[in-house]
Amino acid sequence: MSHPPILEKLKILADAAKYDASCASSGTAKRNSTSGGIGSTEGMGICHAYAPDGRCISLLKILLTNHCIFDCHYCINRKSSNVRRARFTPQEVADLTLSFYRRNYIEGLFLSSGIIKSSDHTMEMIVEAARILREEHDFRGYIHLKTIPEADPEIIHRAGMYADRVSINVELSTDAGLTRLAPDKDARQIEGALGKTKDDIVEAKDAKKRFRHAPRFAPAGQSTQMIVGADTASDADIVGRASRLYDSFNLRRVYYSAFSPIPDASAVLPLKRPPLIREHRLYQSDWLMRFYDYRPQEIMQATEADGNLPLDIDPKLAWALKFRERFPVDVNRASREDLLRVPGLGVKAVQRILASRRHRTLRLDDVARLTVSITKVRPFICTLDWRPTMLTDRADLRALLAPKQEQLELFAA
Ligand code: SF4
Repeated sequence: MSHPPILEKLKILADAAKYDASCASSGTAKRNSTSGGIGSTEGMGICHAYAPDGRCISLLKILLTNHCIFDCHYCINRKSSNVRRARFTPQEVADLTLSFYRRNYIEGLFLSSGIIKSSDHTMEMIVEAARILREEHDFRGYIHLKTIPEADPEIIHRAGMYADRVSINVELSTDAGLTRLAPDKDARQIEGALGKTKDDIVEAKDAKKRFRHAPRFAPAGQSTQMIVGADTASDADIVGRASRLYDSFNLRRVYYSAFSPIPDASAVLPLKRPPLIREHRLYQSDWLMRFYDYRPQEIMQATEADGNLPLDIDPKLAWALKFRERFPVDVNRASREDLLRVPGLGVKAVQRILASRRHRTLRLDDVARLTVSITKVRPFICTLDWRPTMLTDRADLRALLAPKQEQLELFAA
């Protein structure tokens, strides 16, 4: 059997990797990764992610192989899928990474893989690519390795010794969804691997405090990904699971990937993709929990009767409209927590309000100068010279504050 040349393999394996959202560029507008072109963020496998210090970095995002012995229904690389297959050797992955790095195209590598022969064998190949880079070439760039929960914990541990970040995909938010759509995967094994990685990260951090030369282990932590819209799980289910994962496994991020229909899809999958705005609303709720101190129960309270977040307004506004008795909030007296619940007030605006009100009593104009849009904020606050009489109680407040239809369509493509 003839093997495709390296560029052909790169084309296949970079395209196959674009379905993994654990690399942050997956949140950008979807482009055809085969088209490339000036300004393309995804041509030939270049993606963008955020480094632990907050910098946006470009990564070579590829699969080691898109062959797979598993048959997850939602995955284009599953055993029964009729796609062109390719496979890199660990040495090829290392060589490609180095040549892209030397040309300044990338600052690191995101490496995932389908499963060939066995989970252990595949994990060994992934670790070997990282070992070559780190040990043979003293590569100091960023490495994110996808780990396979079914693999031997000792091999997964070695991945963490070379990688900055590791990730294990939870895939579906409920065990029933996983059993139905990924019959080869086991929820307990996934959580076991997440738990072991969490312990290894904590241990390595403790050792580092005591011994300067203690070995590093995934210093940028671990993350996971959940697919949205491939099963019947609601946003409330997804948010609940995400919050338990953050608490139990110290995850840096839970990424969401809107299910996209694949060629020759299995009959158990929906025919249509969920609206992309649904993924966006879940990211907004994730943001509220991580930076605005919302409890998962509060996000769930913002959902509609079907358990999903509204698509026409953001979750913060949805929550505020349901709990109007909590408003208006007096910007001159309210706690930081209450100010953070005001639609239209971001973390920075709240900081500015708290700093300004130490020196003076704020008027509506003062708040307008400290926020991006006073129109959204006004119905929910009172100031020295402003009180929204009856405004908070208006039945059409949602319609007044919802973005116009044209704006929504930007997300619907
Ligand atoms: S294990 Fe499942 S999700 Fe991963 S590549 Fe194979 S079929 Fe796809």
